[in-house]
Amino acid sequence: MNPATDIPLNDQSESKPLNFIHQIIEDDNAIGKFQKRVHTRFPPEPNGYLHIGHAKSILLNYGTAVKYNGKFNLRFDDTNPIKEEDEYVQSIIEDVKWLGADFEDRLLYGSDYFQKMYEYAIQLIQKGKAYVCDLSAEEIRNTRGSLTEAGTESPYRNICNRSINVNLIQFQLMKAGKFPDGSKTLRAKIDMASPNLNMRDPIMYRILHADHHRTGAEWCIYPMYDWAHGLEDSIEGITHSLCTLEFEDHRPLYDWFLDELGAYHSQQIEFSRLNLSYTVMSKRRLLELVQKKYVNGWDDPRMPTISGMRRRGYTSEAIRNFTERIGVAKRDSTVDVALLEFSVREHLNKIAPRYMGILNPLKVIIDNYPDDQEEFLEAINNPEDESAGTRKVPFSKEIYIEAEDFMEAPPKKFYRLAPGTEVRLRYAYFVTCTNIVKDDRGNIIEIHCTYDPATRGGDSPDGRRVKGTIHWVSARHAKTAEVRLYDRLFTAENPAGEKYLEYLNPESLKILKNCHIEPALFENATPGLRFQFERLGYFCVDPDTNDNKLVINRTVTLRDTWAKIAGKQAR
Ligand code: ATP
Ligand code: MG
Repeated sequence: MNPATDIPLNDQSESKPLNFIHQIIEDDNAIGKFQKRVHTRFPPEPNGYLHIGHAKSILLNYGTAVKYNGKFNLRFDDTNPIKEEDEYVQSIIEDVKWLGADFEDRLLYGSDYFQKMYEYAIQLIQKGKAYVCDLSAEEIRNTRGSLTEAGTESPYRNICNRSINVNLIQFQLMKAGKFPDGSKTLRAKIDMASPNLNMRDPIMYRILHADHHRTGAEWCIYPMYDWAHGLEDSIEGITHSLCTLEFEDHRPLYDWFLDELGAYHSQQIEFSRLNLSYTVMSKRRLLELVQKKYVNGWDDPRMPTISGMRRRGYTSEAIRNFTERIGVAKRDSTVDVALLEFSVREHLNKIAPRYMGILNPLKVIIDNYPDDQEEFLEAINNPEDESAGTRKVPFSKEIYIEAEDFMEAPPKKFYRLAPGTEVRLRYAYFVTCTNIVKDDRGNIIEIHCTYDPATRGGDSPDGRRVKGTIHWVSARHAKTAEVRLYDRLFTAENPAGEKYLEYLNPESLKILKNCHIEPALFENATPGLRFQFERLGYFCVDPDTNDNKLVINRTVTLRDTWAKIAGKQAR
């Protein structure tokens, strides 16, 4: 284990085959490439909050560095001033740390290399490999050709008055702010007939008189992604630059820039993106959900963002286990969100203390229990962890049970409470339902029971058996809480396409305002506390909690109820 993070150092145990990236690294090490160094990075653009797909990339990069005793950088790829904000930078730092990816003092910014990139650009111009082009963005697009047709060379590419010197001067004037936005670009001079469109004289710099979140008004030319990214890797001495598959076609350009410059050359390796069912992962869409208020911010517990999952009660360990389970591949696929939920349950089962809480209360009066009596019954805090000990749960004449644990006319195999049946109240007594009280409209408002004093603790001395055990909370001792129940944000497994909003699940958030919880939970309820409500699921205390209101999020149900419902609908 890495003591700082609890991440298993040997994440690929002996029996597991190496993933293809680690195989590449081992092959590189075998021939002494990169002096057997491993140095990875996670390069987010600070234009949104991180999501679970990013978590996969972070943990892959970090885990690879740890596995090979290497280094890991967190580097902001902040080369586009328009959409970037410091709020995003701060949230990304928090999320990466929370995931346990320790970048130590290697918190870096691509924008810190603007000067160096500029100097590299001058080198390419001097080599005759880059030129200033006066075509508009649209003209460049229109002359780029297609997969079946070669592009057309820019008139500025070879004309005699655009000598190397003129290009140098033009580029310097671009930097000096002499030209308006969009009037000129610096382009690499490669091959307008290349079968790879990315190689058709790609733009390296554009003019943009915009303030940057770090460099302010210092620059009015900004590097394009393909130009900047390889240089950032090169400047930092990254060995294996892991990125997602859509950059495969960009690799020749990545290589071309570094080769032409004779700069240190990192190896780009592509792997498949993580896609998750029942959600969207594009930052543009996540931003739309936030801006148009379909969700309550980036950290809404329904969002696939790391901050949303944290708020919902997911643990970083569960996310790490999940990403290890799915592994890395070369082919895109969609992972069932149920697998993520499985990992969350698996971890919370081990660590979450148990409490009793009632979401939809139904009052039960135990007629033969003395009016003023109260008892404190012993309850196990975590059956998976003996060291968690026990606590006392108050019991009295009036309790709440879950409304759905009672049925007036139960079907067969309903082992909970019904007229004339006996059930066990968890940790307390056997009770038998004797009477139902209804309002004028026939709604059940309370039920009456008798209890058997000999069954204290939940066992009958005469060996009498009951089939059902239900949870409860003493009415007199109960505290009130608001519980927020979350469901899939989308009803479609793959809410793809521009009409993705049509698949928003109208039932993705249900707020229950009148829930009753046992006092021990109330006393411990600080935001972030994760626990299990017995029989209901895993929950956590939401940061909206204040002195007047306790807010609880349902993290995940105990079992996969969605699969059941979906299965029924399909039938
Ligand atoms: P965009 O570039 O459109 O803003 P992005 O999701 O690619 O969105 P970046 O900030 O560029 O955002 O991503 C940072 C890193 O995370 C990149 O290396 C990218 O390849 C990786 N990444 C992004 N989405 C996923 C995903 N779904 N699965 C795995 N890795 C991802
Ligand atoms: Mg990207």
